[in-house]
Amino acid sequence: MLYLDNSATTKIHPEVLEAMMPYLQEEYGNPSSKFYSLAENAKKAVAKAREQVASLLGCDPDEVVFTSGATESNNMIIKGIADYYGREDGANKRLMTTKVEHPSVIETFNFLGERGYEVSFLDVDQYARVTVEQIKEAAAQTQPLLTSIMWGNNEIGSLNPIAELSALFEENGLFFHTDATQVIGKVPVDLKNLKGVRFLSMSGHKIGGPKGIGAAIIRKQSKEIYTRLTPLMHGGGQENNYRSGTLAVHNIVGLGKAAELAAANLEQNVQRLTELEQYLTDIFKTNLSGKIKFNSDEKDKIPGLISLQFIGVNNELLLKKLADYVALSSGSACSSSKPSHVLSAAGRSLEEVRQTIRISLEREVSEKDLFIFKKIQ
Ligand code: PMP
Repeated sequence: MLYLDNSATTKIHPEVLEAMMPYLQEEYGNPSSKFYSLAENAKKAVAKAREQVASLLGCDPDEVVFTSGATESNNMIIKGIADYYGREDGANKRLMTTKVEHPSVIETFNFLGERGYEVSFLDVDQYARVTVEQIKEAAAQTQPLLTSIMWGNNEIGSLNPIAELSALFEENGLFFHTDATQVIGKVPVDLKNLKGVRFLSMSGHKIGGPKGIGAAIIRKQSKEIYTRLTPLMHGGGQENNYRSGTLAVHNIVGLGKAAELAAANLEQNVQRLTELEQYLTDIFKTNLSGKIKFNSDEKDKIPGLISLQFIGVNNELLLKKLADYVALSSGSACSSSKPSHVLSAAGRSLEEVRQTIRISLEREVSEKDLFIFKKIQ
């Protein structure tokens, strides 16, 4: 079966699995223990992985906090900042995001909205993007404590202008978070040049790493001063007090290796995904002209992610029909039971939402594999 749902999750990379195995077997020490070699080896492995993630993203290793994934990173950053800075009477309790974020951002905002925070969900354009002018105006008006805007959308694949937004937030000094889960390994991410991005979320299983591991990047205020936030997990004080709990060393090692590979293969990956996307798009344009409509813009998008409507065809029926041959989705795996809030916010009708499927490629796919789409009439 052909797997083309790589935005939902990816197969673990063989080198990642190989790197992890010793930490599931003989190297089982707790990195918080001391003196004996099992503990020291685990500690060294975690430090190496932290360097690998930091090097991929262009930040300092002590700005990397290991979490269970991007859902936790998003929760940790948004709730943590809201609570730490917003708990005093009279403090700024305004938080800003968009209507097309992942549910782990939207629902966290809703949770905070029910607890007295003033949350706003900004409109997006037909490709689910915001503009810098729009954010500049909204930020100037409300001076939000924190603004959270995703880098790349998981359903449509559109990219937001993160470099320009970073410059804006660097200038106005307000906290800015971006959920970069879908862009790692597909778009260059270099936080050295993005000083206004104070927080970033990422996940291991979208980049050939294991599930249940991710990172929250919490940038320091200066070389010595850490940014404080209220942790989600209280306990032994691991991860610089940001996230207590015994570290999942095997998963952390896997994330580190996946990060190293994502950095090393970025260019080739982008080139191959772009080629494959072009090839598949041409098949659709040639064979199904007038019967399909693309949801994404041709530029400023995640390479290899195609969202398209089959006019007059119910997406669930189509996916079921294809399920023995090819694994695809109607949009996001996390909210597959509800009509897409992303497409609705981007102006698509319910009918159009119900005709949409998402194809997310990976570089190992061949052109021949994609012949299957020539059979769709
Ligand atoms: N944010 C985005 C944009 C995502 O696509 C996903 C995964 N669907 C997440 C957050 C959640 O990631 P995780 O599965 O690691 O919790």
